[in-house]
Amino acid sequence: MVAKILDGKQIAKDYRQGLKDQVEALQTKGYTPKLSVILVGNDGASQSYVNSKKKAAEKIGMISEIVHLDESTSEEDVLKELTRLNEDDSVSGILVQVPLPDQVSEQKILEAINPAKDVDGFHPENIGKLYIDEQTFVPCTPLGIMELLNHADIDIEGKDAVVIGRSHIVGQPVSKLLLQKNASVTILHSRTKDMQQHLKNADIIVSAVGRPGIVSKDDVKPGAVVIDVGNTPDENGKLKGDVDYEEVKQIAGAITPVPGGVGPMTITMVLNNTLLAEKMRRGIE
Ligand code: NAP
Repeated sequence: MVAKILDGKQIAKDYRQGLKDQVEALQTKGYTPKLSVILVGNDGASQSYVNSKKKAAEKIGMISEIVHLDESTSEEDVLKELTRLNEDDSVSGILVQVPLPDQVSEQKILEAINPAKDVDGFHPENIGKLYIDEQTFVPCTPLGIMELLNHADIDIEGKDAVVIGRSHIVGQPVSKLLLQKNASVTILHSRTKDMQQHLKNADIIVSAVGRPGIVSKDDVKPGAVVIDVGNTPDENGKLKGDVDYEEVKQIAGAITPVPGGVGPMTITMVLNNTLLAEKMRRGIE
């Protein structure tokens, strides 16, 4: 069996067209969603991430701005900028690009974002809502993974899902979302004793570790769905997933490539959440 390739690039493209249509519909009511991104410092990768978010937002008709602060900006000044955006009625969604310089506490900044504009879904209030099944902003990578599964008509109910990684931005929220869809979920991490024993039984594997090759052909049950979140640059700067893609695709039922799998869905979900934020504050269904 050769796996169905879950083409995140194409799925994201189709999804963004749907968002563009919704933005146009909102504009006829006089509202244009606006995404504001705070970037502190000159880290090259961060600059390129925020530029792609801005470009993607503008491509679907949103307004987007990058608030670029100097590397030496104090925590107090970042908080001031955040307060300004929190209170600015033209701003629908706010993102703060991480990592932040040492003098700025990431946790303090995330907790200062207005939860109604927290399109990354990292504010404790929004994390709490996710865990009690209330409507909220769901973190973008986990949401993108669920959209990939949904788009490929992958049945989740009653399935054994194994998630490798327990971070707050990927592993734990995606586990919660799979549980909401009635999978039986096992979370593995660096202290798990026998990873293979869990992986071999899995109908769905989500790997979010950042270690190329951690999932090999011998770990995967034939026909399993394999979602690779890993994104590790090799010595030539080429991105590598966690999964031994060429081998695993020979036996899996479905698989995401890296790049071109989960990655494009993440930015798409930033746009999705910005649109949602605008609709929610305008009381639009
Ligand atoms: P993270 O915070 O570093 O978490 C990594 C997780 O992997 C931790 O829970 C860790 O376990 C676990 N782990 C480490 N070594 C392990 C091992 N040998 N066996 C089993 N588990 C192990 O990373 P993250 O932010 O979740 O990101 C994970 C990967 O996804 C990275 O490659 C990142 O670049 C990528 N990513 C991609 C996207 C995208 O849009 N494509 C978005 C976000 C992240 P402990 O908790 O025990 O330490």
